[in-house]
Amino acid sequence: MSDTTDGKKTLGLRGGARSGQVKQSFSHGRTKNVVVETKRKRVVVPKPGAGSKPAGPVGQVGGSDPSKRPGGISDAELERRMKALAAAKARESEEKAQRAAEEKAREEERERRRAEAEAKEREEREREEALRAKAEEEARQKREAEEASKRAAAAPKAEDTPQRAPVSKPAPQATPRKSEREREDRGRAARGREDSGRRSGKLTLNQALAGGEGGRQRSLAAMKRKQERARQKAMGGAQEREKIVRDVQLPETIVVSELANRMAERVPDVIKALMQNGMMVTQNQSIDADTAELIVEEFGHRVQRVSDADVEDVIDTVDDKEEDLQPRPPVITVMGHVDHGKTSLLDAIRNAKVVAGEAGGITQHIGAYQVDQDGDKLTFLDTPGHAAFTSMRARGAQVTDIVVLVVAADDAVMPQTVEAINHAKAAEVPMIIAINKIDRPEANPDKVRTDLLQHEVIVEKMSGEVQDVEVSAINGTGLDNLLEAISLQSEILELKANPDRAASGAVIEAQLDVGRGPVATVLVQNGTLKQGDIFVVGEQWGKVRALINDKGERVKEAGPSVPVEVLGLNGTPEAGDVLNVVDTEAQAREIAAYRESAAKEKRAAAGAATTLEQLMAKAKEDENVAELPILVKADVQGSAEAIVQAMEKIGNEEVRVRVLHSGVGAITESDVGLAEASSAPVIGFNVRANAPARNAANQKGVEIRYYSVIYDLVDDVKAAASGLLSAEVRENFIGYAEIKEVFKVSGVGRVAGCLVTEGVARRSAGVRLLRDNVVIHEGTLKTLKRFKDEVAEVQSGQECGMAFENYEDIRQGDVIEIFEREEVERTLA
Ligand code: GDP
Repeated sequence: MSDTTDGKKTLGLRGGARSGQVKQSFSHGRTKNVVVETKRKRVVVPKPGAGSKPAGPVGQVGGSDPSKRPGGISDAELERRMKALAAAKARESEEKAQRAAEEKAREEERERRRAEAEAKEREEREREEALRAKAEEEARQKREAEEASKRAAAAPKAEDTPQRAPVSKPAPQATPRKSEREREDRGRAARGREDSGRRSGKLTLNQALAGGEGGRQRSLAAMKRKQERARQKAMGGAQEREKIVRDVQLPETIVVSELANRMAERVPDVIKALMQNGMMVTQNQSIDADTAELIVEEFGHRVQRVSDADVEDVIDTVDDKEEDLQPRPPVITVMGHVDHGKTSLLDAIRNAKVVAGEAGGITQHIGAYQVDQDGDKLTFLDTPGHAAFTSMRARGAQVTDIVVLVVAADDAVMPQTVEAINHAKAAEVPMIIAINKIDRPEANPDKVRTDLLQHEVIVEKMSGEVQDVEVSAINGTGLDNLLEAISLQSEILELKANPDRAASGAVIEAQLDVGRGPVATVLVQNGTLKQGDIFVVGEQWGKVRALINDKGERVKEAGPSVPVEVLGLNGTPEAGDVLNVVDTEAQAREIAAYRESAAKEKRAAAGAATTLEQLMAKAKEDENVAELPILVKADVQGSAEAIVQAMEKIGNEEVRVRVLHSGVGAITESDVGLAEASSAPVIGFNVRANAPARNAANQKGVEIRYYSVIYDLVDDVKAAASGLLSAEVRENFIGYAEIKEVFKVSGVGRVAGCLVTEGVARRSAGVRLLRDNVVIHEGTLKTLKRFKDEVAEVQSGQECGMAFENYEDIRQGDVIEIFEREEVERTLA
């Protein structure tokens, strides 16, 4: 068939066909001539010079036939037309050449496939014939052998065996010869396209020849399926295999249809692959990442494991270009041993540098402030101590650029000084040593310097690198030198940020403010935070409602290294949480929700682990020591920290207090969950549990205790720790009421129109006013009215009027907590 065209008259296109011979080369050194014909497009071209016939495109441009023109055309016009004509001709011949080339390529491809198919077919036929011959030979031998032994019955049986053999044999043989099989498939596909009827007929014949009348035959449908598969393979298989290898991102769980989608594979194929791996799933079911990974690899794609944390990817983390960066003020943290004068030094700097007369200049306290040093701004974190520094670092917020280490000249290096040095070194933050209290007569700055040597801090005066400045926070000596040293250090650091991008920053302090809601003091680290920006901060999110600077002024925006109070949060974040501006509220919500659930899991896991591990470890260490785990929630960060510190100090030979978690804001369900996991009570300091948390606590038997005086709390915990809890007066909450409306009644004052939402409201009971779950007043009732009548009690679900004794600041939405005191046997945990 390779010489079909030779010596025979070829069929050709009629009329204006152009033909040419193309010589083709094949494998095995065979060549072939192919006649390529292209049908000429019918375009009338005027003879050169004459221009007597209008050409299609030219005719449109140039007008009518010159011969029919009444007046003839100008030379210029003629020339122009001729040019256009030539161009059209050139275009036409170009197209023709292209078509010819295409046709040639197609023809080549067809021929190649046909040749391959034939070669393959021949091979197959030969093989089958050989097999058949062999089988017949075997059969004959067998027959002869059997005939020799058993003449009659064995013969037909023996005949069966060889008949089946040739049919079933080619399959196992074909398996290792994969390339051959592929070629065969391709060939078959090509043939199938041309004349599937003929093909299938031929194959059946082959099989019939090979297998004899009793041989197993493929059904026509199976043949067609095979052809179809082969065709697909031949058509796109080769190039698909290269382009299709994808990086498939796999989260912790993935829905089957989504997995198929990410691999760009058909859903049924994926389901089938899963079934082969023993997983019966539908396309809407989720599978875990490990299973998905198997499948992805089976399909030949690359796996990229990702976590749910991908929702955070919307946070703009692009690195800034060098040219976008602008210098920013340094951020300074003051550290040192207790009583060495950190607070005094911070106050001294603020008082000396913040211009008096500026609105609230000195009184405003937002956890950080900026001072002006010869035109350079310096940002001081107004939260001295290591806890703040480390807790921030632990939460991923590296805020501090420079540490000022305060060492009292009359005291020298102390344990916390060493701790501070270690913290600064761990964070790779440069230090400046402020040798304080040099006004003291017993001050010995050189002793400080030599002491520091032992801790590998070599100050400049000892020919080292670390700057040291002698100061007095009390009388202001050396303050300027200290600030200069800071400026110098900051110049060396070349601190830069890009103010023209979505802001990111760190929470320095956060609190639930009565009236203003949750408020966070944020130090902007990069970009510019603007009013109206949507952000996510830790597990909270919000939209900047207002920005207040360190002087108490409202500002529209805050750039890098500027501390601002941010209003407009949906909840209270924690110190050290990172704030990121995002594009949409949906993104902010999504990220916050993800973080909340992740943190919940982590807390639960950590809580369980510490209880088990630590208690076990402790038990081993000293069998008599028990631990009292507690959870602390407070109204402000300051009180939370104070409580934690106080708690950590409590402890005797029998028991220690361990604070599992401390935070700011209402007691939530997740707090209760953690408390339950560790069998810990929850301490609310001037805050209350919200309704879901209360329910959860009731269900799980978690004790929630409320306090408003730290000493009471400390006393109670101490008593519990030493097992000395005695029967004492304890508060019982008997009801809650929500203020729906506030009226002014002459003679009585402001009266709250309430709905009792839980329990009962009792005239004789004590009451507290809660705003956003924070206690803002405690006292007694002046009146409890149902309609016009003064009553002793109002049940849940009923409305009533209440007024406080000596307290008027009540607002719609506030909650009134009604409690009674009773004497009970106390337990703590
Ligand atoms: P902090 O615990 O490190 O914050 O230390 P404080 O700032 O509270 O200071 C502790 C005590 O040292 C206070 O009584 C201060 O008045 C005193 N103090 C701080 N700085 C100086 C100083 O430069 N000179 C003198 N004479 N006393 C100082």
